[in-house]
Amino acid sequence: MSARYSGLIERYRDRLPVTPSTRIVSLCEGNTPLIKLENIARKRGRGCEIYVKFEGLNPTGSFKDRGMTMAVTQAVSEGAQAIICASTGNTSASAAAYAARAGIRCFVLIPEGKIALGKLAQAMIQGSVVIQIKGNFDDGMRIVKEMADVAPVTIVNSINPYRLQGQKTAAFEIVDALGRAPDYHCIPVGNAGNISAYWTGFSEYAGVKPATAACAWCDDQCKFERPAVTDSRPVMLGYQAAGSAPFIAGHPIELPETVATAIRIGNPQSWDLAWAAARESGGEFKSMTDEEILKIQRELAEQEGIFCEPASAIALGGALRDIESGRIKEGSVVTCTLTGHGLKDPDTAIKQSAGGVIEIPAESDAVKRAILDHL
Ligand SMILES: *Cc1c(COP(=O)(O)O)cnc(C)c1O
Repeated sequence: MSARYSGLIERYRDRLPVTPSTRIVSLCEGNTPLIKLENIARKRGRGCEIYVKFEGLNPTGSFKDRGMTMAVTQAVSEGAQAIICASTGNTSASAAAYAARAGIRCFVLIPEGKIALGKLAQAMIQGSVVIQIKGNFDDGMRIVKEMADVAPVTIVNSINPYRLQGQKTAAFEIVDALGRAPDYHCIPVGNAGNISAYWTGFSEYAGVKPATAACAWCDDQCKFERPAVTDSRPVMLGYQAAGSAPFIAGHPIELPETVATAIRIGNPQSWDLAWAAARESGGEFKSMTDEEILKIQRELAEQEGIFCEPASAIALGGALRDIESGRIKEGSVVTCTLTGHGLKDPDTAIKQSAGGVIEIPAESDAVKRAILDHL
């Protein structure tokens, strides 16, 4: 085997639904860093080790690539000529990239107006057919499900079970990097596929089959019955934006609103899987206001140099709040998924850094004064 990293399917091949002859569609996704927080942890960590899994460093800038390499590999192996998805942005960016790589068509349905600029740019330049609907993500999801029956297109939203199979590898990487499972895992929740995928991955590595498993296939040996890699599983803590929190309301939300557009979803498709993960792990769901989300996004950038998108920041915001309240025990090992890169949504970052640019004449005295004022 060559030492060159060539993507998560190769790395975790024996735990994924591929055969030796499968043509793998990959952009070397996965293998993202697990970064230990220093400054924020020292101030607010109460003895906890806090790590962020920076999924913004995937090829298209979000964790969606983990699921997309698997979903597009499978679609191509079944002879698909086209894929389709509804998207708040990152799924379309990822689907477009993997379709380009595979040489197949990609259709993306995006909600009018509410898509971050970077994500739209990706879908457009990567050659997908971008269809903007006068509706939100949930409308797009409903329509996409109808299209699978009337047109030769494979759905690559997270209702496609291969997506979750690819995404579960992030949990493997965390355990591999720490040499153990974390005590708590904190994660944003939109359509609720990712929390379900992580729970599947953590469970598989612990050699435990979850009550409701996100299984894509079963061959002669159930993957959950392999020897355990680790002897424990984390408590799963999921966070939704306050204006878009169906799991807190207990029912779907008609008109979800939040600055964290990646989780602006009122009717999560993996509802049951996500609740099973929370229940089985002793975890729960909580919400956070847009104001809190933006505050933690800025703190993470200012104090650790890590720039994630607003939807991602909610995981760390939730973790810190739960550490402060004692929900997360002192001295725990806590991991947070930073789902997407901050550059995806430059508008929001610039807006909330208003006044951050000093305007002066092009003269050395003026620059000197500006430096001395800010030392
Ligand atoms: C897709 C996405 C989420 C939500 O993940 P789900 O699996 O839909 O719960 C969160 N953050 C970012 C950046 C995303 O792209």
